[in-house]
Amino acid sequence: MRAVKLCSPVVDDFAGAVGGTRLIRLNNVSRATGCDIYGKAEFMNPGGSIKDRAALYVVQNAEREGLIKPQGTIVEGTAGNTGIGLAHICRTRGYKCVIYMPNTQVTSLIHLFLLFEEPSKSGSAPHVGLPKAVAFDDPENYNHQARRHAERLENAAWTNQFDNMANRQAHIETTGPEIWDQLQGKVDGFVCATGTGGTLAGVSRFLKEKSEGKTQCYLADPPGSVLYSYIKSRGKLRYRTGSSITEGIGQGRVTENLKPDISLIDDALYIPDEKSIEMLYCLLDEEGLYLGASSALNVVAAYEMAKILGPGKKIVTVLCDGAYRYQTQLFSRKWLDSKGLVSAIPSHLQKYIVL
Ligand code: PMP
Repeated sequence: MRAVKLCSPVVDDFAGAVGGTRLIRLNNVSRATGCDIYGKAEFMNPGGSIKDRAALYVVQNAEREGLIKPQGTIVEGTAGNTGIGLAHICRTRGYKCVIYMPNTQVTSLIHLFLLFEEPSKSGSAPHVGLPKAVAFDDPENYNHQARRHAERLENAAWTNQFDNMANRQAHIETTGPEIWDQLQGKVDGFVCATGTGGTLAGVSRFLKEKSEGKTQCYLADPPGSVLYSYIKSRGKLRYRTGSSITEGIGQGRVTENLKPDISLIDDALYIPDEKSIEMLYCLLDEEGLYLGASSALNVVAAYEMAKILGPGKKIVTVLCDGAYRYQTQLFSRKWLDSKGLVSAIPSHLQKYIVL
């Protein structure tokens, strides 16, 4: 198991800087609930998001399993953050990187990849494919395109973050133990949303085992995802309805990463976009945290969980990434208006709508 490396001052490379993130007490949300609510500051990872952990683990797994050899190509389908982590890691290891991302993703993420298109010394600039956003059961879905791309190449690995258990393992071995150590084994609740499900599954698995089942683990789900109703109905999969502004989360199926642990999840919370956007602005104003929408959704869920568990509890959630990648949307009046969300932001906080 990887040692927790809080305050470790020097690391060898990008991979060495992944993980070991701070746990930030969210003072205003804590005060409002009588609980101690903490956010795991995953935006502090070197690629800027929680997904650096999974990216590192899937690459290490491909190396260990002999699926990739020097100068090979890593291919992945990603909503963005995993691709960013992979692009960095591939550069430092001399691999080429091919990313398939649905064309509905925020343009600044796409621009970030285009920056990576500038060839590096090792020639490992990523190639970015932007297929139309279609459901997983459509052969043109970005994940299937990534798989087919890897199959066409020599010495290439499709890292398949959704169903590759190395993703969940990253959180069993790093995120979960870090949280447990940071709170000296006093974790009453953990809640987060899912994209691949790696974070929820891995952290819940670790905390449930360490606490002998005492830590309550909840899913937080946005509109358009099927997992809330799946957990509430104890295993019935319904069709998606609706959509959400939260990027990188929401899921239409039970991924392989979720399957072994979904029965550990005690309950699910449905968080509408209005609540997430209100929290996003509150977190900026009251906690000084400039976060992406999935982080804000997670904090709303931690607040709701605190009300359910009652005062005096210690509850942890995940601050997945920062707002910088999404600022042209989340702080734009035109964009917020197009989503009908301006009125969800309290009037005294609307001064932050600067674009
Ligand atoms: N938040 C953001 C911003 C993400 O990019 C992702 C991953 N797509 C998640 C949350 C969800 O993480 P996981 O894949 O571990 O479920």
